[in-house]
Amino acid sequence: MKNFLISALVLSLLIACGAPEQSKINESKIKSYSWSLVTTWPKNYPGLGMAPERFSTLVEEMSQGQLKVKVYGAGELVPAMGVFDAVSSGSVEMGHGGAYYWKGKVPAAQFFAGVPFGFTADEINAWVYRGGGLELWEELYKPFNMKPLPGGNTGTQMFGWFNKEINSLDDIKGLKMRFPGFGGEVFKRAGGVPVNIPGGELYTAMQTGTIDAVEWVGPYNDLAFGFQQVAKYYYYPGWHEPGSMLEFTINIEAWDSLPSHLQSIVSTAAKAVNQDLLNEYNASNNRALQDLIKNHNVQLRELPKDVINEFRSISEEILETSAANDPAVNKVYQSFKKFMAEVKSFNAIAGDAFIEARTNSDTDS
Ligand code: CA
Repeated sequence: MKNFLISALVLSLLIACGAPEQSKINESKIKSYSWSLVTTWPKNYPGLGMAPERFSTLVEEMSQGQLKVKVYGAGELVPAMGVFDAVSSGSVEMGHGGAYYWKGKVPAAQFFAGVPFGFTADEINAWVYRGGGLELWEELYKPFNMKPLPGGNTGTQMFGWFNKEINSLDDIKGLKMRFPGFGGEVFKRAGGVPVNIPGGELYTAMQTGTIDAVEWVGPYNDLAFGFQQVAKYYYYPGWHEPGSMLEFTINIEAWDSLPSHLQSIVSTAAKAVNQDLLNEYNASNNRALQDLIKNHNVQLRELPKDVINEFRSISEEILETSAANDPAVNKVYQSFKKFMAEVKSFNAIAGDAFIEARTNSDTDS
């Protein structure tokens, strides 16, 4: 009887102590969240614009409706280039875009979209997720009250669309071309005139002659925008964007307000979308390129090697100068450079040698 009383007392004490904790857990499972996500892309745009749509679907399914994220295309709530400020100020909880769009506010952020002659998609994923990149990126956005997460990758892009052939840097002189990021600075140093215009306005800008040339993404996305109707030559390779990463941005207060299981769902859904978008590009680009050549009479051209070499040496100069002039750029640049040296030397042994072996076996057969 005595033992029974003691056990009952202990049990009721345990229940009493556990109750507030239990109710906190229950509350975190019951409270629902409705977020808004603004993007730099037209609503439902193939590839780029579908990444946040798929993220939203995944988050809602995984959380069983506890977290709903409503996606707005460029211009629906804020203009394309207003995404950063909207998330930073907390007027919306999330954004989706490319980190190099914010180079005027955070120059070092450009490394997290990609820099000329920089990382491929696999390499930037490795650097950001496993090589210290994400921590540096978080540090850059923290003063703006935001947290970044990788949000997709376009794979290696094309150089772009022109109405004349590019045989030397002289052909670039005075050419007005849509060109974001460090790539735009390289283009400027080479004698061109870079402008940054949101994707949705590019076709009209080409059609009306506001710009002479345009770089956007690659065959899959460029076909969707109809650049084949306003330009004749399609140049490669996209030395300026070898594997551009997209970003999700999250307002830090909104992030902190989420219970940990929803934070985990957000991170995991972003990770899934980051890979899925690259898969989509890899699966769609070749088909779109064949369509452009066969059905739209697009003239495919490779940039001459000496032009690429000139762009490469200007790129190196610009990255070095930017790093020398800005400690924040330098910090990211040093990490980028170190990781680049490591992956490059291994890829020369593994990936590059294999691609060469495979290409040669194609030629032989
Ligand atoms: Ca591009």
